[in-house]
Amino acid sequence: MQTALTLYNTFTREKEIFKPLNAPFVGMYVCGPTVYNNVHLGNCRTFVSFDVLYRFLLHLGYKVRYVRNITDAGHLESDADEGEDKIAKKARLEQLEPMEIVQRYTVDFHHVMHQFNTLPPSIEPTATGHIIEQIEMTQKIMNNGYAYETDDAIYFNVEKLVKEFPYGKLSGRNLEELQTNTRDLDGQDTKKGRLDFALMIKAKPTHIMQWNSPWGKVFPGWHLECSAMSAKYLGDEFDIHGGGMDLAPTHHTNEIAQNFACCKKVPAKFWVHTNMLTVNGQKMSKSLGNSFLPDELFSGNHKLLDKGYSPMSVRFFMLQAHYRSTLDFSNEALQAAEKGFARLMAAYKLIGGLKTSAASTSDVHALKAKVYDAMNDDLNTPVALSHLFEGVRIINSVNDSKETITYDDKTLLHELFSQMIFDVFGLKEETGGDDSRMDALMKIVLQIRADAKARKDFAASDKLRDDLLNAGIQVKDGKEGATWSYV
Ligand SMILES: [Zn+2]
Repeated sequence: MQTALTLYNTFTREKEIFKPLNAPFVGMYVCGPTVYNNVHLGNCRTFVSFDVLYRFLLHLGYKVRYVRNITDAGHLESDADEGEDKIAKKARLEQLEPMEIVQRYTVDFHHVMHQFNTLPPSIEPTATGHIIEQIEMTQKIMNNGYAYETDDAIYFNVEKLVKEFPYGKLSGRNLEELQTNTRDLDGQDTKKGRLDFALMIKAKPTHIMQWNSPWGKVFPGWHLECSAMSAKYLGDEFDIHGGGMDLAPTHHTNEIAQNFACCKKVPAKFWVHTNMLTVNGQKMSKSLGNSFLPDELFSGNHKLLDKGYSPMSVRFFMLQAHYRSTLDFSNEALQAAEKGFARLMAAYKLIGGLKTSAASTSDVHALKAKVYDAMNDDLNTPVALSHLFEGVRIINSVNDSKETITYDDKTLLHELFSQMIFDVFGLKEETGGDDSRMDALMKIVLQIRADAKARKDFAASDKLRDDLLNAGIQVKDGKEGATWSYV
């Protein structure tokens, strides 16, 4: 008998047994990207983590409605209702329609999600597609007495809420701590309390994204869209709400406040958060110059990368860390993941041809139970993978005639590997089996280029490199010769 699925709930700070509100149905909402630039790797890690959760729930037989939004309006540069709308700003700077920005980066986001082999969500609602719902929700919050209108916005009244609800619970902070993290109000502010936040912001005539409302021309605050869209598609109470851990203190805290003000309920039972990325032990950030985009990681086209790593090697690498731990990128770790992924896939391909015997020297049933126990333990993918590698050892030993396996155990092992690798971990073969031919071909091409360089015909060697890049193949020169990867 396997253990039950447990998930760490940020709201209660405990690992709890996952029991859906209306089994076999599961409602899951994950905060999606703000589509004003290329999706960054931290976001990818979050969406890959929730893809594994989604896949595991489906694998366990649940019928999951997975909602992941696209933020295409309302996300200001600062969480404190300050600065410009990120999309409007980009549109102004590039002299484009905001929807051109949205379209460009939504396409990029979907492309990267496809490269990482994530399943599309059941519904992918947009903020601008749900302005009516957001206006209605604001109206309801006002009618219930938790919001007020000023000259520049409709503000949520946090001080009123805290009398009945622990506003800082999700972030693990009390009210005083939250307040010390917020700046003092000054003469410019029209809001009453420093923790109050905008539900709707009154648009100046120059603001390029604005909508009619009972309060004049407005645009919505960022937190409101997720409250309105999760309630619309998953109801007032649903099972799982997820996102990166940076969203917990403000965005998710304010979402809970809004939903509670509407219907006296905390919208989700489980609040699940993924941890951050680091590079060589340092926080990944643009200002430190150590952040790279998924494309740069795949092509190796970045000063910190020795070479490119395929999307599945990167996905495998992500699975090697628990989703609540930081994930540290380094060339050594990525190369180890690349090798580990290749070993796993090579072993999988051997299973079908293994000779069977009257007895097994290893306990495959126990191995399967260990894999499921690890996944049930708050989605512990690194431990589940380590058990699969015990399976790799068994497969290789049987293949080398050092161990034996029965027909039934071989079938069980085949099923376990296939379900875990493809269905749950979402890994896949990368080049449809053509890799060895492609490798052989590229060896010839790279030799031609090396010959051209040797006779100092750099025009020819550069042209070859550029033509390959146009064909989607990136060549990178290194100390030990040139290597190639798909762009
Ligand atoms: Zn959100």
